[in-house]
Amino acid sequence: MNIHTKAVHSGDRKRTGAYVPVTTPIHTATSFFYETAEQLDRVFGDVEKGYCYARYDNPSTGALEELICALEGGDAALACASGMAALHTAILSALTDRRRSIVAADALYGATVGLLMNVFEPSGASVRFADICDLGALRAAVAEARPGCIVMESISNPLLRVGEIDAVAAIANDAGAALVVDNTFATPLLVRPLELGAHFSVHSVTKYLAGHGDVLGGAVVTNSAHAESLRFLGRTIGPVLGPFESYLTMRGIKTFPLRMERQCANACRVAAWLAGHPRVARVYFTGDPRHPDAAAIRRLFPPNLYGAMISFEIKGAGREEVFRFMDALEMIVRATSLGDVHSMVLYPAMSSHRSLSPKHRARMGIGDNLVRLSVGIEAPEDIVADLEKALA
Ligand SMILES: *Cc1c(COP(=O)(O)O)cnc(C)c1O
Repeated sequence: MNIHTKAVHSGDRKRTGAYVPVTTPIHTATSFFYETAEQLDRVFGDVEKGYCYARYDNPSTGALEELICALEGGDAALACASGMAALHTAILSALTDRRRSIVAADALYGATVGLLMNVFEPSGASVRFADICDLGALRAAVAEARPGCIVMESISNPLLRVGEIDAVAAIANDAGAALVVDNTFATPLLVRPLELGAHFSVHSVTKYLAGHGDVLGGAVVTNSAHAESLRFLGRTIGPVLGPFESYLTMRGIKTFPLRMERQCANACRVAAWLAGHPRVARVYFTGDPRHPDAAAIRRLFPPNLYGAMISFEIKGAGREEVFRFMDALEMIVRATSLGDVHSMVLYPAMSSHRSLSPKHRARMGIGDNLVRLSVGIEAPEDIVADLEKALA
């Protein structure tokens, strides 16, 4: 089934007595009971399918998990209270029965670097960073660190590099490591990491999947080999998503492929316009044929869908000029998130990469003149017009 169809139909339609609701209701109950204690015992014992306690399972969240699993082509999913909770749980599951050593892409979401350095490393896992787009360097790092887990993003933040997930998965498999891919930026419309050999695909559903700036949530999708460990961690640590958020996320996902297509098309137009602007020094965009990973993008992503994130440098600008530009925007929202229906700008030096020194940021290629733009579903000419006024 096509992803547009799955987004609308998967996960829902459970019989409740005599009727079938067209969408999954919000089940607020924390516990569930049956005709007999005998039956409840069977549900507790996993002999009979059913619900007993909301930390274990909830019908609203279960429907969402089924839906995300279908979109990503996985065998099992866990919906979490945030993208960070999902990443934490995925890495814990990846390291179950594996060496407590992690090789991570050197370009990652800021909080993910924090999770690795300030949570996993103090708990005894070694962490090493490598350029995920340089397979030779990655192989060398893996040979040395012998990781149990490799962590990467399908499109990196904020410079939008694209690693070859299938090649990285092969390196992971050779080393006996599990590959965890944060697929938040690319979404399953562009790439489904599990189909390329990754062991975990992780989302901040806060972004494109929910898409309306009104839900904080995350999800882990995995293969059958890790399904039991993921379920165990979900039940034991309890990072689970609540029924209201599950409902909103499911509602959002119904239009996610439609929104994402529009956002990708808008991004192509906006990126082309920015590239021709005299005040713009450089544009980072996955649809640019001169992108350093253009070959991987052509091979892994569908035609004409490149993602809807753009980063760009304003000529000769520092913090002050960038702030003046941001303040001059009338429609595009100055806020730290992405993937919403509305366009948003963010200054990485202020937010996602704030904790790094200017020197460290410069080494990563994040200059003080770099702006990140999440392109929304508005009419593209209105996005361009807002940028044009603010850049004047
Ligand atoms: C936002 C984001 C996260 C964290 O997700 P939360 O829902 O904010 O916890 C992780 N990875 C990427 C790529 C993100 O954009």
